[in-house]
Amino acid sequence: MNISRHRLFYLSILPTFALHLKMLRFMDTLVEYIIPHKGLSDGMHSYRFEVNDTFFENFESSLIQKGFFVVDLQLEKTPTMLILNMHIDGTYQAVCDRCVADIQVPLQGSRSVMIKYADDAEDEDEIIFISPLEHQVNLANIIHETIMLAKPIANLKDCEAEDYKDCDEAILDKLDDDLQQEQAQGNSTWDALKNINFES
Ligand SMILES: [Zn+2]
Repeated sequence: MNISRHRLFYLSILPTFALHLKMLRFMDTLVEYIIPHKGLSDGMHSYRFEVNDTFFENFESSLIQKGFFVVDLQLEKTPTMLILNMHIDGTYQAVCDRCVADIQVPLQGSRSVMIKYADDAEDEDEIIFISPLEHQVNLANIIHETIMLAKPIANLKDCEAEDYKDCDEAILDKLDDDLQQEQAQGNSTWDALKNINFES
């Protein structure tokens, strides 16, 4: 193998190797979200998980990078499937869409997901298929998805109600002033239009 072929060889295995490392890291940091369902009895089981900044670091392009959530899970096991009812409650850090300060946005949400056993089946809306041979399931992806589905598009909070705890009061005041000015200008334009006599 000459040098250039050597280099090509390493370049070709590099992405696979990186992916492998990433998977290892994923499994390493998210083990607490694994449920060994094979050993569970049929019926209801309750779980409580916590999600923090380290959790979000595992989802590279996540819309939330920092946050803290409590996940309450009611899991019903039947002979053919697992039914998950999840409730998430917490806050995430974001840049406020009004005053661009770093704010803690409160977020709650609920979701039901079914996990069924089948080989080679495509996931559907809220139905996830896993191999009948799997004896455990990692809920990290499902929990992350549930938080993303609950997240509003705009990062806002009721700054006034919290006495501007983390929003920038000066910028919000300026925005209010600008809005009032625009409204006043709008009104004067309207008054001028009203006075035009179209019948002449
Ligand atoms: Zn704000």
